[in-house]
Amino acid sequence: MKQRLLFLGPPGAGKGTQAQRLAASHGLLHLSTGDLLRAEIQAGSELGRQVEAVMARGELVSDDLVLAIVRNRLEHHHQGWLLDGFPRNLAQAKALDQLLSELDQRIERVVLMELDDAVLIQRLLSRGRADDNEQVIRHRLEVYRQQTAPLIAHYRELGLLSAVEAAGSVEEIATRISALLLD
Ligand code: AMP
Repeated sequence: MKQRLLFLGPPGAGKGTQAQRLAASHGLLHLSTGDLLRAEIQAGSELGRQVEAVMARGELVSDDLVLAIVRNRLEHHHQGWLLDGFPRNLAQAKALDQLLSELDQRIERVVLMELDDAVLIQRLLSRGRADDNEQVIRHRLEVYRQQTAPLIAHYRELGLLSAVEAAGSVEEIATRISALLLD
């Protein structure tokens, strides 16, 4: 199976759920920048307070900050990994390419999870996270469309992209994803 993976898709598509599952069953490092940023908030640091305000608005935190987080983890991890929620824009994607070439590693597959907006909004509303109220959700979807969706073409051109329909049960979606990662 492919060991160095990137999960892409709008908020609410189920990236976190699927990433966690796959990482656990295949011994991959699950690197979720959203989870790491939330941990920073929990820790109550000054950085955490700044991150909290940005996240509550549904904006992206600075590229330098997330990149430092990712660099720190990947530098010390040479086995398989699964990036979830990063990169979020083209600048991050380019910085990731640079970092990986320094580390002599490369992305083996990008999994794009696709789902209709109406379903995404319903899922996010039922999740009840601090940044999951309707106004912020709509803004996060807009940020996704403008900043993150251009990565689809980027990774498609590199021949790395596989899209999966993210509707159905957790099991069904997991089966679809596994089928894309064989060999
Ligand atoms: P997520 O858990 O991936 O939905 O991320 C929640 C929030 O964390 C986002 O709305 C952003 O504010 C922030 N965040 C997570 N990952 C990134 C990233 N790669 N770049 C910038 N901001 C991020």
